[in-house]
Amino acid sequence: VVELGMPTRSVLTTCAYCGVGCSFKAELRGDELVRMVPYKDGGANEGHSCVKGRFAFGYASHPDRVLAPMVRDSIADEWREVSWEDAIGFTARRLREIQAEHGTGSIGAITSSRTTNEEVYVVQKMVRAVFGNNNVDTCARVCHSPTGYGLKQTFGTSAGTQDFKSVANADVILVIGANPTDGHPVFASRMKRRLRQGAKLIVVDPRRIDLVRSPHIEAAHHLQLAPGTNVAVVNAFAHVVVTEELVDREFVADRCEGFAEWTEFIARPEHSPEAVEEITGVPAGELRAAARLYATGGNAAIYYGLGVTEHSQGSTMVMGMANLAMATGNIGRDGVGVNPLRGQNNVQGSCDMGSFPHELPGYRHVADDDVRGIYEHLWGVDLRDEPGLRIPNMFDAAVDGSFRALFVHGEDIAQSDPNTQHVHAALAALDLLVVQDLFVNETAKFAHVLLPGTSFLEKDGTFTNAERRINRVRPVMAPSTGKHEWQIICEISQAMGYPMHYESAAQIMDEIALTTPTFAGVSFAHLDKVGSVQWPCNEAAPDGTPIMHKDGFVRGKGRFVETVYVPTRERSTRKFPLILTTGRILTQYNVGAQTRRTANVAWHPEDLLELHPHDAEVRGIRDGDMVVLSSRVGRTTLRAVLSDRMPVGVCYTTFHHPVTGANVITTENSDWATNCPEYKVTAVQVALTPEQ
Ligand code: SF4
Repeated sequence: VVELGMPTRSVLTTCAYCGVGCSFKAELRGDELVRMVPYKDGGANEGHSCVKGRFAFGYASHPDRVLAPMVRDSIADEWREVSWEDAIGFTARRLREIQAEHGTGSIGAITSSRTTNEEVYVVQKMVRAVFGNNNVDTCARVCHSPTGYGLKQTFGTSAGTQDFKSVANADVILVIGANPTDGHPVFASRMKRRLRQGAKLIVVDPRRIDLVRSPHIEAAHHLQLAPGTNVAVVNAFAHVVVTEELVDREFVADRCEGFAEWTEFIARPEHSPEAVEEITGVPAGELRAAARLYATGGNAAIYYGLGVTEHSQGSTMVMGMANLAMATGNIGRDGVGVNPLRGQNNVQGSCDMGSFPHELPGYRHVADDDVRGIYEHLWGVDLRDEPGLRIPNMFDAAVDGSFRALFVHGEDIAQSDPNTQHVHAALAALDLLVVQDLFVNETAKFAHVLLPGTSFLEKDGTFTNAERRINRVRPVMAPSTGKHEWQIICEISQAMGYPMHYESAAQIMDEIALTTPTFAGVSFAHLDKVGSVQWPCNEAAPDGTPIMHKDGFVRGKGRFVETVYVPTRERSTRKFPLILTTGRILTQYNVGAQTRRTANVAWHPEDLLELHPHDAEVRGIRDGDMVVLSSRVGRTTLRAVLSDRMPVGVCYTTFHHPVTGANVITTENSDWATNCPEYKVTAVQVALTPEQ
């Protein structure tokens, strides 16, 4: 076998690219990874995969990898390679010095949805137990924090309601602000299978995504709304349900509260399809027909993405979808539900593990004395009961001088967060920036300490996917940096005077299970035995929970919430007459740090601006021209492609390449409840570059 060049062994692990969480056998010849083979018994993928999971693993051995710790006194200096002992000692000493000078609350950390549950858990523990504050936030802040807020308010827990398999029993599929074909390809295949079998499709999206019309699939309705008007659309759906007597009265009476007050609100004429047409541009007849289909077409399931959450009303929209599902009884069984399609591999997990500044693991508020008591007893410290800083608050506080040191764990905030200029100013103002990452990313350019991270092939732990499925991530090879990331966090904590020690990642999961009721039945041994499990997994649900809220909502009764539509502040003006919205493509992943370092780079080497032919013509722009894209906060240059996927007046780009830096354009606007940035609506102008 060896002579034929075939693999000699394999390790079962989980793709690190998106919230689908596909299982793969990593096949090796000796110590060399030869190929990734999708695993037929993988709970999320059942033998399927996409191009990223299958082929885009080359970044793990890319020569750009940082393999030794580096330190510098100022960002104007050259990096100097140091030992782990020196890097950890330097980091711990500087953090303590800064706290002594500027106070306990002057430091904090950002966790990553790319890292394992166990790594996230120890980072938030370091912040709470060692830093002595709650200044920890997750990069989910900038993607799905409104999901966490909205689903908790209405259903009682911050997670999607269904397993992926559930889509096979949906009769109507409502896709809002998501492009599963590019963003969640393996789940998209499941969805398409069901659509080809005859399920009806409604797409709510300003852009004509591939799903609207693909082989053997034709959406019954594509509601091409103006960016920023989701809430008006979902309210119009609910208005039709209420005023046309399409409510599931029995479900509402048995399972929900607040219905009477909500009915009074939603029945008002301002929510009628006719009134909403004025706001959204979607014809009233189309709105009404789509709402009727959702309410009467059988099992109706909602799937949504960042086109819902990354708005100034992201949280309102999540609650609006929950209202709609409850009013029609589309919750708590196969084929229905409200389902966030998570972007990164461990968005769900990074939120579950307590890395929001107001919540301990399991979404329990830091002000809850009983919950805090569990951790105080186990960790041997007093914990703070007031929420810490969110990411945008950290940036603001850094600029005003009260926040002085930040630990960034596996996240490129300088490229991925909005309003790049403000982020750069904040990072440059810090006394200490510690970055742990695989590469010298855009954030590391502002760092004083760069701690090398491990790729998913070197990690030992778990990821939790969009259907709450906890998958094992097994080490395919030893950490090329010499240390697991959780070990580094423990060593920094110890150097700061707090005794944090674990023998293994399995032991960290044991602590998570001990302290978090929804994870009580989870252990590496159990996962190795059953493959994967969906939380809650505990005494009440030893086999996990594929479908939530079956007999009752987690909060008891499902709660109807009045979802008032408030227009975004971001309007087109004479100076910035177009609206820019953003998204991703199949072959690149987020800021591209990984996919740009694989063969993928040859497939899509640049971000492109999709511009409607009419908008291009009036500006003298031809297909392929380089253009300047500007907003009130910044400008960048990229290539225009003419496309009628967007309506006149709306343009679209991706954010995978630092050279383009789409977030130079995006603004400080954010969701009212969670500060999730309003990436999806920016008023812009487009013009030919001066040299053309
Ligand atoms: Fe990986 Fe997502 Fe593709 Fe599955 S669908 S292989 S998890 S990128």
